[in-house]
Amino acid sequence: MKQYNITKIQKKLRKELDDDRYRHTLGVMYTSAALAMRYGADLMKAQIAGLLHDCAKCIPNDKKLKLCDKYGIPVTKVENDAPFLLHSKLGAYLAKTKYGVEDEEILEAIVWHTTGKPAMTLLEEIVFLADYIEPMRWKAENLAQIREAAFVDIHRAVYMTLHDTLRYLSRGSGKVDEMTKEACQYYETLCQQNGEIFGTEHLKHIS
Ligand code: FE
Ligand code: FE
Repeated sequence: MKQYNITKIQKKLRKELDDDRYRHTLGVMYTSAALAMRYGADLMKAQIAGLLHDCAKCIPNDKKLKLCDKYGIPVTKVENDAPFLLHSKLGAYLAKTKYGVEDEEILEAIVWHTTGKPAMTLLEEIVFLADYIEPMRWKAENLAQIREAAFVDIHRAVYMTLHDTLRYLSRGSGKVDEMTKEACQYYETLCQQNGEIFGTEHLKHIS
């Protein structure tokens, strides 16, 4: 198991991010660690993924597009119209090439932190959720409920986050990533199934 030098990564990252983004980043790192403790995920991986998830965020949008072109990272139509989305893929690429992270699990958690996707790994769910609930966040509706759910039922908290994100996006630019819709449907079904399983258990108990 590779050990990472968190202090060294932090120092390097500090130069790439503005003050607010850096504070958000530390919030995501600690929140990912807390969720990893709760659900038994790898603490080091959760911290590194949280720390680096937005490492490409402060690169200007036109430069993001140029860098993707340069590094051969494919850009979808949606990403081309909303280049900020590229900070995930580009971030994973930079995490690997500039910060020496080769662990695919960590890199995938960085790739999917913005849109989410169906059937995420535990680490992906943790970073996706930590990004939404870290202590610096304050704008989103239902934050208190999602924060509470995050430490009770991670799938339900992921579903709530996806659901609220879609609702928020549909009110604004109208640009909604298909992957987020698919993810939301997947987690909705998963939560319903879990609810049913719980319900049946409950009935067995009574009879
Ligand atoms: Fe991000
Ligand atoms: Fe973030």
